[in-house]
Amino acid sequence: MKHHPDFSNLHVADHPLILHKLSMMRDVGCTKVMFKMLLKEIGMLMGYELTKRLPLTTREIETPITAMDAPVLAGKKPVIVPILRAGLGMVEGLEEIMPAARVGHIGLYRDEETKEAVEYLVKLPNTEGRTFFLVDPMLATGNSSKYAIDVLVKNGVAPEDIRFMVLVAAPEGVQALLDAYPQVPVFTAALDEKLNENAYIVPGLGDAGDRLFGTPHA
Ligand code: URA
Repeated sequence: MKHHPDFSNLHVADHPLILHKLSMMRDVGCTKVMFKMLLKEIGMLMGYELTKRLPLTTREIETPITAMDAPVLAGKKPVIVPILRAGLGMVEGLEEIMPAARVGHIGLYRDEETKEAVEYLVKLPNTEGRTFFLVDPMLATGNSSKYAIDVLVKNGVAPEDIRFMVLVAAPEGVQALLDAYPQVPVFTAALDEKLNENAYIVPGLGDAGDRLFGTPHA
């Protein structure tokens, strides 16, 4: 992933497989089945990058030949937190590479009038000493992601322990998060052009939740 020169919090994917799969998802002809599969695959590929700097320690183990101090992940199990609903589509890919990770849930919907986030569910494991991977495919205005980070922080998570993984980001949302939480790195498969008058990302991919679950607007 490449650090974006205009946003100190932003890392943008440059892996050909991620870019190819995202283009398939953007295509209006991409079916629900393909959309779900590709989102999972991108989640896994991006997860590999996001977990690059997880802290390590060593543990003494016995190989069949001898004893050794072997590198193992330090601390408590990390936590994957999807912002419902669309974030659910990125959990499976991350769980493939971190099967023991805990999974929390933050349920928010966007009030279509005000574009503000409205909370309907928060369920988190105990937060102390864990790294949190917050996931949501679309970073549009930044309202719901900022709200979700507020929820994590209120529950005792330090912003430094949060990494935010998205599929498509709008500059407006990246800037809003940079203003509110400069310590939280944002990892995206693509940085798009802008938001339209309905706060949808352009060119984007439409409503990620509807496309993932096959609900009315998809
Ligand atoms: N949420 C979506 O699902 N798509 C957008 O373009 C913006 C917000």
